[in-house]
Amino acid sequence: MQKPDYTFERLVTKAEATKAHITIIVIHHDRFKKTFGPIYREDQVEENDALALKPFFIEKENVWVNLKLVYRSPDKNGKPRNELRLYFNKGKGQFKPAANEIIIANFYGDEVVLSVRPSDIKDATILNAKVRKAEPPVYDSNDPSNTAYTTLPSTMTVSAREAWRRDAKSVRKCLKNAAYACEAGFVEPSFVARKTKKPYLEVHHLVPLRYQGDFTSFNLNDPANLFALSPHAHRAIHHGQHTVIRTVVETLLGRRPQLLAKLPKDTILEMYKCV
Ligand SMILES: [Zn+2]
Repeated sequence: MQKPDYTFERLVTKAEATKAHITIIVIHHDRFKKTFGPIYREDQVEENDALALKPFFIEKENVWVNLKLVYRSPDKNGKPRNELRLYFNKGKGQFKPAANEIIIANFYGDEVVLSVRPSDIKDATILNAKVRKAEPPVYDSNDPSNTAYTTLPSTMTVSAREAWRRDAKSVRKCLKNAAYACEAGFVEPSFVARKTKKPYLEVHHLVPLRYQGDFTSFNLNDPANLFALSPHAHRAIHHGQHTVIRTVVETLLGRRPQLLAKLPKDTILEMYKCV
């Protein structure tokens, strides 16, 4: 089989499946533009819908369909939004990916073939995983592995090491910009932080500060690189399986397209060992 010369993939979230459109992140915009020619803004095609329609081949059904591909209209202050959206037709028998499926657009020259494959990522289910309610097991004092330690722990030498400094002002700004809600979309009970009197959140550097040395003109404390995360989401991005980390990173990148202007998504994913 012929190999595609470009591939776009995206995990479809629950909200996207319901709304029947996906957002195409900035790194892919050029290829879509190259293939489809002019891509219009939503408000520019109100009079003439046909301008927004682009042909896609649906692999499974072996048919061509026209799908709406548009940039979103500027916001209410007239500020342009660099958000490219692909809309699916909602009708019966129409191609429409489901939540947690991965939609794939394979580019063969000027032709784009759409297909889906299931993901092993339970996206929203993982992101909003419910904590199982269970009675804690009873502590078994007869179990030999539960007996008290009779010796002291060994010691180690902790030496000072040089690290890049976080910027407290930028951290505060990040929390404020996020309106004290988790930017990864994790919904879980929180508590009010003593200091801020707002829901407790942690701030994560998407491009980790330890990479600061690789960037000579990009301060990694720039608010664009900071994300307000619930403690659970924050642990997930540091300690989760790579599939989960990838989902979180992609969600976060979707919120800061300007970050992708500074470095490609693959470079970021590589930092998280997700490629
Ligand atoms: Zn972190």
